[in-house]
Amino acid sequence: DPVIGVLALQGDVREHLIALAGLGVTARPIRRARELAELDGIVIPGGESTTICRLLDVFELREPLTARLRAGLPAFGSCAGMIVLASQILDGRPDQVPLGAIDIVVRRNAFGRQVDSFESDLAIAGIDGGPVRAVFIRAPWVERTGPDVQVLARVGEHPVAVRQGRVLVTSFHPEVAGDDRLHELFLSMVTSGERRPGT
Ligand code: GLN
Repeated sequence: DPVIGVLALQGDVREHLIALAGLGVTARPIRRARELAELDGIVIPGGESTTICRLLDVFELREPLTARLRAGLPAFGSCAGMIVLASQILDGRPDQVPLGAIDIVVRRNAFGRQVDSFESDLAIAGIDGGPVRAVFIRAPWVERTGPDVQVLARVGEHPVAVRQGRVLVTSFHPEVAGDDRLHELFLSMVTSGERRPGT
């Protein structure tokens, strides 16, 4: 069975652990570099991306995590996790450095100018069985996508679920909606294809 880590520096770690455990995989909170070694995939939860980015440095996780991501470790980020995995952040703190695991530019708190939080039923490419209930809380949107990025869902013209290779990010929080189909999609990305060296 695959082992999935949930970065446990800040945010809704517990909700992701519960969703993953419900799908029958081994799910572990990750706080130390040595805990990265055995992972087949990692989730970056929702929360506060400025705090998570700062704690990546405090816990000396930035370098080893970046190395694993470069080597192909599958990753799933929700909301703040989308921001942390992005290549570039708009409306971030000047000292906020993302991990650059997916070729997207994100805008923080993008919907917040109109409305802080909302829910929506979203049709998501690659997910069967009807629309997914999507919970947005001070959510980012994707402002620009690189050529290898696939848009899976939009709100208006703005991408809110995108994928590049084995990295999946959503503006919303699948971990709080009681619908585990996004986690299932991520697990299919983890188990598909050959295992990478070092995993
Ligand atoms: N606004 C938060 C940030 O910029 C994200 C909010 C969330 O994860 N619900 O990090």
